[in-house]
Amino acid sequence: MPLVTSKELLQRAVQDHFAVGAFNANCMEQVQAIVEAAQEERAPVILQVSQGAIRYAGLAYAASLVKIAASLVDVPVVLHLDHGTDYEQNVRCLHAGFTSLMFDGSKLPFEENVAITKKICDIAHIVGIPVEAELGRVAQSDEHLTKEQVEALMTDPDQAAEFIRLTGADSLAVACGSVHAMRSQEAELDIARIKAVYEKTRIPLVLHGSSGVRESSIEEAIQYGIAKINVATYLNEAFTEGIKEGLAKHPDSVDPRHALSVARERVKERVREKIRLFKSAGRISSSGGFVDAPRQFRSAHLGGAEE
Ligand SMILES: [Zn+2]
Repeated sequence: MPLVTSKELLQRAVQDHFAVGAFNANCMEQVQAIVEAAQEERAPVILQVSQGAIRYAGLAYAASLVKIAASLVDVPVVLHLDHGTDYEQNVRCLHAGFTSLMFDGSKLPFEENVAITKKICDIAHIVGIPVEAELGRVAQSDEHLTKEQVEALMTDPDQAAEFIRLTGADSLAVACGSVHAMRSQEAELDIARIKAVYEKTRIPLVLHGSSGVRESSIEEAIQYGIAKINVATYLNEAFTEGIKEGLAKHPDSVDPRHALSVARERVKERVREKIRLFKSAGRISSSGGFVDAPRQFRSAHLGGAEE
């Protein structure tokens, strides 16, 4: 089906206590793995591209690959910009047909983050595209911060409420204990903080850096407002290991497909595992709507019909 926006999906997720997996892709094999896994699990899915992925594949390739992948399945697929760095990049992605945007102004002073987020929301909302914003900062694993330092960066619930009131953002990435690019699953989320941010903002919350978070913590967070969960490192790891495995199996082959097809399979297995953990498996019926509410999603923007 055509791409859908993340708006209804995330509202539904928060209401029914599941999370939509938002999986990062950099190349065709990763896009295929993610969308095929979603189709097999009958789950809605968000395919997201980072600034690095756009530099690597090119914006036109990234957008086209995801559109084609979505057109081949009958579960809802969203094309989302992950960590959009500025206003211009968001406008370029809007023009390229993205159905969900993000501006990450979390490193900026509050007022500046508000001003740019609002500007992006204003333009995106004209054509019905939702925007994710970020407040509080999710640390990077290579910053080697202490537990106290990670805590000091966390999202403040009152400030979050003010931020959403001023910007009109549709979802909010919260800093609540996870760390980007973490490879061991040791982080515990601050569930009380997630609960407080959701109660004050009443919008779907987004978890970044999920690869390093304990599964029990993720399951709990889904109950209290986390409706989109980003997964990147865990998939990249599987892809790279799959390439090595494929090369080892066929050491004399010059055919790259031997390695890439193993890599694609490894990513697919991990996406299926995460979709089940996030409780989004089995949500979509054969008509392409939610199992208990069979209706069509708003398809893309610029006059996409509803119902
Ligand atoms: Zn992130």
